[in-house]
Amino acid sequence: MEDLDPPRESPEAAKEILLSLETLNLYWDGEVLYQSSRHNDYHDVLIQLQRQECVFPCTCSRQSLQGNAGIYPGKCRNRQQADPDLKPGEYALRCKVSNLTMAFNDLVQGRQSKNMDKEVGDFIIKRKDGLYAYQLAVVIDDAFQEITHIIRGIDLMDSTYKQIYLQMLLNYSRPVYGHIPVIVNNQGQKLSKQHHAPPLNLARPSEALYQALVYLQQSPPVELISHKPSDVLLWAVENWRIGKLQNLQQINEAIL
Ligand SMILES: [Zn+2]
Repeated sequence: MEDLDPPRESPEAAKEILLSLETLNLYWDGEVLYQSSRHNDYHDVLIQLQRQECVFPCTCSRQSLQGNAGIYPGKCRNRQQADPDLKPGEYALRCKVSNLTMAFNDLVQGRQSKNMDKEVGDFIIKRKDGLYAYQLAVVIDDAFQEITHIIRGIDLMDSTYKQIYLQMLLNYSRPVYGHIPVIVNNQGQKLSKQHHAPPLNLARPSEALYQALVYLQQSPPVELISHKPSDVLLWAVENWRIGKLQNLQQINEAIL
């Protein structure tokens, strides 16, 4: 449960997510792991990265970093955390990347590669407000939970480079990645709360699962809608063909 930022995430939100999954007949292995309970582990790994000299403090404001395609220009790279001018709350910690090309075979999008220094840049692992960054937390949690496969939206593709880079620094094994297309509206925006997309209709879980399968190009038979969610999932498991998503990056919501 990605609750790194407690003021923004109410405990109700976590309950709602679990309830939604259960309604859709989707279950999980073992206990739910909450990131809010993992700060000591994140702290230990941060110390390890600092010992490896892969971390530097950055005082740049978000505004000063606009442009350059969002790639950090390396301004604070040579600063030391022991610098007496640094005040708590006024600097973030960044992971220093090397001039190295990272590549991986994506299950859906095929071979991917980027140069860390030129195309990704040094990235934040602890924010100015003291919160651990998502990139660091998920890498530590995935290793801790022995996650083997990560299937998620293509909007997270850029995060993957940061995450496989951290896995390399920390000597963790690398999961297999598959980035599936995201559903977009007519303006090409990803369906999300931010763009006022309606939530799933959990009163009709079979229909929601059926729609997901249509978007995922799996051509489910329409009569699945009148079956139980567990039957829809059974059909999906038996008929799943990831190849039908090959190289697809976006799916228009209008196809339904
Ligand atoms: Zn900086």
